[in-house]
Amino acid sequence: MLKKIFAAAAIFLLFIGLPAYALADAKPIEIYINGQKVDSDVPPVIVNDRTLAPVRVISENLGAQVAWDNTNRLVKVATASKNITLKIDDKKAVVDGQEITLDAPATIVNDRTLVPLRFLSESLGADVTWDNDQRRVVINSGKTKITGFSYEVVDGKPAVVIMGDGPLNYSEVNTDIEGKFAIDVEANLGTKENVFDVDSEFLDKAIAGEISVDPPTARIVLNLKSAASPKISSSSDKKNLYLTFDTVLKDVTAKKDDGDLKVNIEAADSCTINYFLLSNPDRLVLDIKNIKLGEKTSVDTPDNDFVENIRLGQFSDDTVRVVFDLKKDAAYQVSQNSSDISVVFSKIDTITNIEVTNQGGVAFIDIDADGKINYEFTEGKNKKKFKLTAYNAGLGEDLANSGTINVNNGVIDRIEFSKIKDGNASNLEITFYAASYSTGQLLSNSPSSLIRLEMYPSQTAAEGLLTGKKIVVDPGHGGSECGALANGVQEKDINLGIGLKLAKVLEDNGAEVYMTRDDDTYVGLYERANMANDLNADLFISIHSNATTGSTPSGTETLYYPTAEKKLLAQAVQKALISAINLNNRGIVERPGLVVTRETKMPSVLVEVGFMTNPNDFALLMDDSFRQRAAEGICQGIIDYFSQKTD
Ligand SMILES: [Zn+2]
Repeated sequence: MLKKIFAAAAIFLLFIGLPAYALADAKPIEIYINGQKVDSDVPPVIVNDRTLAPVRVISENLGAQVAWDNTNRLVKVATASKNITLKIDDKKAVVDGQEITLDAPATIVNDRTLVPLRFLSESLGADVTWDNDQRRVVINSGKTKITGFSYEVVDGKPAVVIMGDGPLNYSEVNTDIEGKFAIDVEANLGTKENVFDVDSEFLDKAIAGEISVDPPTARIVLNLKSAASPKISSSSDKKNLYLTFDTVLKDVTAKKDDGDLKVNIEAADSCTINYFLLSNPDRLVLDIKNIKLGEKTSVDTPDNDFVENIRLGQFSDDTVRVVFDLKKDAAYQVSQNSSDISVVFSKIDTITNIEVTNQGGVAFIDIDADGKINYEFTEGKNKKKFKLTAYNAGLGEDLANSGTINVNNGVIDRIEFSKIKDGNASNLEITFYAASYSTGQLLSNSPSSLIRLEMYPSQTAAEGLLTGKKIVVDPGHGGSECGALANGVQEKDINLGIGLKLAKVLEDNGAEVYMTRDDDTYVGLYERANMANDLNADLFISIHSNATTGSTPSGTETLYYPTAEKKLLAQAVQKALISAINLNNRGIVERPGLVVTRETKMPSVLVEVGFMTNPNDFALLMDDSFRQRAAEGICQGIIDYFSQKTD
């Protein structure tokens, strides 16, 4: 009964004008409303087991107004729907015309009116609990408060953001006024920032105001500059509301600058970009996300050495695509500063000639360039493939036209070229395929305009990483069975294209490769699996291309029949393939129903390289260098799979 004694002391102390806690050991009572500590100059006191607290600070924190009738010594507390009257030192109170008897009357301490806290809070619709350990009265009005109001970029789109301490319910207000957009949010306006000016293409000003206390309602009004209207969305916990705008592409200009071509793209607000090269014909593609095409729909391209034409289009609902049709290899640099994007094309050093001479079983390779080129030479793991990467370099017209150089001099079979995008640069990769296991080394130093290297058969032939492995490559569909169809292209042809390249890459790594089909013929599903089983193959890999309704889904996935071994293979292939082709990673997928992976006794997977129904994936699936990268990625996955078994 310590509390009673303390309460009695509190009343006594109250009359001699000292704070209740001054002589007592107990901690003073704290009041929390909606999670916030409420401070008052007069602390709460306990009378007859009831906590009394200053009427004004509590009422106002619960959204009510307080009036004082001095003549009658009455305290009046009111909201839109509630009227409470208390008389000082009188246990009778009136709530909405009903008389109620209190355990403790309202009283005056140090010129402050104290009223029974629970009675007042509950009359105002709040929930009251007592935390004895903390000596804390916790009041929860159950009403959400707006805690933040700002203008920022969310997921690449400019947005007015309204933050609440709980879920925010809203309704759109029909303003009927040109250039005004409004919503009502069921919450108290707790934030201090409730007006801000915006320097944006769409928005002039955003204003938040309280239009009702009970129920608590805040109105958010946007003064729009254009006819654009924002989209409303909520975060998953509904605590954040977003009024989002699509940026508009304002201008695109191209001008010549000292031999370079400079293209400036101006968006109304900051945006996200992605760019890549496509070949046949050569194009640089720049996608600008979260943006709509404005009035600018075409670009005047001045006569220049690099770009034939610049095209603009609304590629998808929120993406504008800018396509640069390239005349020839150019160095290009894409940079972005918020809403300004710049693309600069300049002269690239080109490799003009490659000459191979054979001296006593050693092949000497001389590579001429029209400028000093930075380069790197790497020896393939299996010693049958060598790579020279020339940075920021292009290919001279004669070489570009000849494509592959067939050497067949006993040391080198052939030389192939491919352009690769690496960050901001356009690099050239020259691959030397050796006739047998070989050694290669550079005879020149980088950078140089004359690159010299030698290759000769190894004294001790290295083993290929897949030597001794029997692998079945299964290009999906074929013959009368076409697979998916998109943009007039049949899936079977894409699968065969990648499958043939995969077979070649696997062979280059020493594998013994069999194909279920190497041309456009029909082969049954069980026949495919049986072929691999009869061969007692070490591994089976099926190549497919995905398709679905809608153009959004994209990326790569690897399907497997659920056994531990097949899952390991799927993981290795998916991982290496993604790192080689860099498409959206859809992961590995357990698929017990697929005949070719279920019926094959050895580790087997089915790869869906990309989506024919996605424009970006489709363009890549049709691209020869992409197919080569996919084949190399799958092969690397297979090498990784076998090597983790021997580790
Ligand atoms: Zn298929």
